Amino acid sequence: MRAAEITGKGVVEVVDRTIPQASGDLIVVKILVAPMCTEFKKRQNGTEDHSLGHEAVGVVTDAGDSRRFSVGDRVAVMPHYGCGVCYLCTSGDYMHCPNQRDVLAETGQDYGTATYSQYLLKPDWLVIKIPDDISLVHGAMACCGFGPTFGALERMNVDALDVLLVSGCGPVGLGAIVQGVTRGARVFAIETHPFRAELARKLGAERVFNPMEEDVPALVRELTGRGADAGIETSGAPTAAKNLALSVRSRGKLSVVAWAGDVSFPPLVPQGLDIFGVWHWNSLNLVEEMWRSVRKASDLIDVMITHVMPLEEVSDAMDIQDTGACGKILLLPHGDLAEAELQTV
Ligand SMILES: [Zn+2]
Ligand SMILES: [Zn+2]
Repeated sequence: MRAAEITGKGVVEVVDRTIPQASGDLIVVKILVAPMCTEFKKRQNGTEDHSLGHEAVGVVTDAGDSRRFSVGDRVAVMPHYGCGVCYLCTSGDYMHCPNQRDVLAETGQDYGTATYSQYLLKPDWLVIKIPDDISLVHGAMACCGFGPTFGALERMNVDALDVLLVSGCGPVGLGAIVQGVTRGARVFAIETHPFRAELARKLGAERVFNPMEEDVPALVRELTGRGADAGIETSGAPTAAKNLALSVRSRGKLSVVAWAGDVSFPPLVPQGLDIFGVWHWNSLNLVEEMWRSVRKASDLIDVMITHVMPLEEVSDAMDIQDTGACGKILLLPHGDLAEAELQTV
């Protein structure tokens, strides 16, 4: 099978690898859509990675001993390889499991945990069925397109009564805007890149502030009368969390989704903020709610996805990511969208 790997600074190549085999609870998914996440940053840094990607949807081609799945099931895969038995895994918070499985060592295989590839090995309990009325492309939002910010919106209970402020309009921040809009919230965003600011507006952000030119906390207060009810930090920029906290009203809520080294906040006590660190979402408890969100956002998802490209063009796709002039980019490991769409009922 074909799979992408980063072999040096600025170099991503598609190479031949062995197709993984199902074993016990480990099933094989033929990946038809692989959304791109932050892997391009490794290419920028020259960090070698021979197992790229963690987002995928496709069809089950070998269900192993699974009693949850059959060959042909349309599925989305969740990230990581949690142990499946600890309190975090069994409560659906497997993202935080400290005992990750090494499924390749377990089964004596040399490849099969990358999603920038044609087939993937995954424990069946980390795979969710995509409802028949949702296309594979839209189902792919259950990965990082919606996942991390869906987790944040759920933990902050954001609804139609809220003003939501989203910091950073990359693919994760755009997902927050889409979901905020479909929940009926009034949505503002913070972004410096002109393409992304424009895309945020197209997706329904009422205003997109440029923090280099505008006093964001003052403007948000002026427009809302008191500040945003909830904020989501997706940018990872050094002062973003502080700026966001100052833009959220007293007793408001704030989620940090971005992976930044050090996050600095203003003094927290005066504002009495609730602050959440959110990695992903709980697919055990919230799967139906996720699919409701995807259905409601159907038209906006098509705007948020700006590029769909074959896996063989992964280098070009990362060139686009380097410019920042994109929303979510989807790779198609088996060539074109036709096969993926045929899997849509
Ligand atoms: Zn675990
Ligand atoms: Zn991701």
